[in-house]
Amino acid sequence: PGIKTLEEFNFEHQPGADRTLIAHLGTSSYLQEAKNVILLGPPGTGKTHLAIGLGIKAAKTGHRVLFDTANGWVTRLQEAHSRGKLATELSRLRRYSLLIVDEVGYVPFDQDAANLFFQLVSSRYEYASLILTSNLPFGRWGDVFGDPTIASAMIDRVVHHADVLSLKGTSYRLRGHKTLTTTTN
Ligand code: ADP
Ligand code: MG
Repeated sequence: PGIKTLEEFNFEHQPGADRTLIAHLGTSSYLQEAKNVILLGPPGTGKTHLAIGLGIKAAKTGHRVLFDTANGWVTRLQEAHSRGKLATELSRLRRYSLLIVDEVGYVPFDQDAANLFFQLVSSRYEYASLILTSNLPFGRWGDVFGDPTIASAMIDRVVHHADVLSLKGTSYRLRGHKTLTTTTN
């Protein structure tokens, strides 16, 4: 969606982001081990910014990287599936050391979408990395995937080898705007 760098990220504004860990992730060594990065937190706390920043670092160290939203990925997989080419597409994607999946949770998946997304995660497990961002804690991913069993099987694979960063606070987009307060008399 736009160029965002780790250097532009203001750590003073985001106490949930571990500067040392992010600097380490910026070396892209996690890609060699097929580890994942999960960025959780409310809207506007810098999840997409950090995901893009890490993607750019990975690309600069010679890795192949693709970025799309969770819905974008599902749409691609649905297209491949309807052409009878799902397995081919999943193995093509395995040639990318990093796929970024932005915005897991804003739009719930129907059952077919949840199954396709699960296959994407499984196909990369211990083979190639994912960066996932979500506004929802893992405990609510069952709602997104419409099925707590699929959600927990997926979370299990994603977090087995992963760094999970929980971003906090209010939206960076709204900084400087007047705080809305309610008063009761
Ligand atoms: P999210 O994906 O968590 O909803 P974004 O990463 O899109 O949030 O951040 C919203 C906007 O605020 C973007 O323009 C982003 O570059 C900026 N932003 C968020 N957090 C920071 C930060 N700590 N330092 C600098 N810019 C930030
Ligand atoms: Mg975002």
